[in-house]
Amino acid sequence: MQLLKAKAFFSKVAPKAKKPKTACQLPESEYRFWSPLGCITVRACESGLHTTGLQGDLSDENFAPNPNQGVKLLGSNKVPQVIKKCEIWFRTYFDDPKNMNTVERPDICVFKKSNLAFRELVWKTLADTVGPGEVITYGALADRLKNPGAVRAVGSAMRNNPNGIIVPCHRVVRTSGLGLYHGGTLQSVKVWLLNHEGITKYSK
Ligand SMILES: [Zn+2]
Repeated sequence: MQLLKAKAFFSKVAPKAKKPKTACQLPESEYRFWSPLGCITVRACESGLHTTGLQGDLSDENFAPNPNQGVKLLGSNKVPQVIKKCEIWFRTYFDDPKNMNTVERPDICVFKKSNLAFRELVWKTLADTVGPGEVITYGALADRLKNPGAVRAVGSAMRNNPNGIIVPCHRVVRTSGLGLYHGGTLQSVKVWLLNHEGITKYSK
């Protein structure tokens, strides 16, 4: 019991950046953006994004969004195209998600593979077909992938989504309600994002 507690505490104060299984072999760099949701950290190779995440110690308890915080890339003067695109994408998204059809999604490295694994297809289908202001259930997303039996696999893909916000797993809800975000630890972030997109009714 003690050990479990200590372990849980440790993982909370010292979040370890897990090397995503989806990363390619190209060199990867890290960039940070200020945003209304706090610091967003992006890791990318020259081909596209590997990971996009909010600060590791964020929780429902300490989540304090600041709508007046504009999107700003921190301290890099020479940035690759994908990061420039990312900055424009975030700026447009946080300014008004209704304008997302005017910006191009920053490339996601793993989407460039020729044979996508099932969960990669889930991420891509979600990012390609579920826009701001829409929600989809786990089941409907499985149907859209022509695999209606794969509801649990869709859920697993959502839990393991390496590029939050850009691959909009916050738009995937349960038939009966909101559904979990980040294993249930960031429900307030899911609600914030959906409200920001004009959604106040979560179930389909
Ligand atoms: Zn890559």
